[in-house]
Amino acid sequence: MERITLLFCLLVTTTALSQEAPFGLVIHGGAGTILRSNLDEQKETAIRETLNRALDAGWVILHNGGNSTEAAIAAVKILEDSPFFNAGKGAVYTNTETHELDASIMEGKTLQAGAVSGVTNVKNPIELARLVMTDSPHVMLSGEGAESFAKEKKLELVPNDYFNTDYRYQQLQKAKEKSKKVSRKADPGLEKFGTVGAVVLDKHGNLTAATSTGGTTNKRYGRVGDSPIIGAGTYANNQSCAVSATGHGEYFIRYVVAYDICARMLYREETLEEAADYVVSTTLKEAGGSGGVIAIDVSGNVAMPFNTKGMYRGYRIGADDPVVGIYSED
Ligand code: ASP
Repeated sequence: MERITLLFCLLVTTTALSQEAPFGLVIHGGAGTILRSNLDEQKETAIRETLNRALDAGWVILHNGGNSTEAAIAAVKILEDSPFFNAGKGAVYTNTETHELDASIMEGKTLQAGAVSGVTNVKNPIELARLVMTDSPHVMLSGEGAESFAKEKKLELVPNDYFNTDYRYQQLQKAKEKSKKVSRKADPGLEKFGTVGAVVLDKHGNLTAATSTGGTTNKRYGRVGDSPIIGAGTYANNQSCAVSATGHGEYFIRYVVAYDICARMLYREETLEEAADYVVSTTLKEAGGSGGVIAIDVSGNVAMPFNTKGMYRGYRIGADDPVVGIYSED
């Protein structure tokens, strides 16, 4: 009898050990008119290398048992520090040739969240968003107040021209030129969205979503998009999923995209893929809102739908190799 109990215990233990808790992350570096013909080989290789580096940074933390927020921050910071994406260094220009940055983060276990909008001197806005979540009683801080909080928290500050890149400057000039020709309502700064984000599942079953952006090229009047809006550009709930968005922010705000995907899973019992696909390929597409999302659920399922030509994206789940894509055929 005792031998049978012992055997049973051994069997349970080995099964538990072989079924390691799922973990992993998904990242994006923006959706838009990204065509093979527009990207030279050298730049494409460098972009793929940066996406892989961001995936690795988050994955190592998760592999070692670290939490989803640490992994999300590590991945997003690499993308913010890269000049290739519209977040941190390489952020797009406003109409007055400056940079105004937005970011947000949310934890699925507690529904705690932090966001900043219109910051101009914080090197890594995602770090500031995290501090709003952990060290303040608020969810969202903006402009000068957010900068004061960053100073108080001794975050790394940089002059606004640290974010300059020649590529984005040319993009602004083209957008300004084009805006002379198109109607006031059409926005010529809305073809490429280089916002960055990460959605993460750790071994403890917790989700985090994080998003960081420079907004849209040629934006005016303190325009704020979806990226720092909890529910629109970023959302996480352990009961459903974690989502980070990129695209024409005005639509993502009006259709509460990130929350809608999580809600469809909860209320309609859709799978992650069904919910994300429906919102991006039907709801947004029919409304005329271009862009995409990355999403992950507590079982480690991944979705990365977009309704544009391409989206910089990648994922690395458990022991599997990382996967990186740019174009729709990747
Ligand atoms: N969603 C961002 C915004 O509207 C832009 C982007 O995805 O690049 O501010």
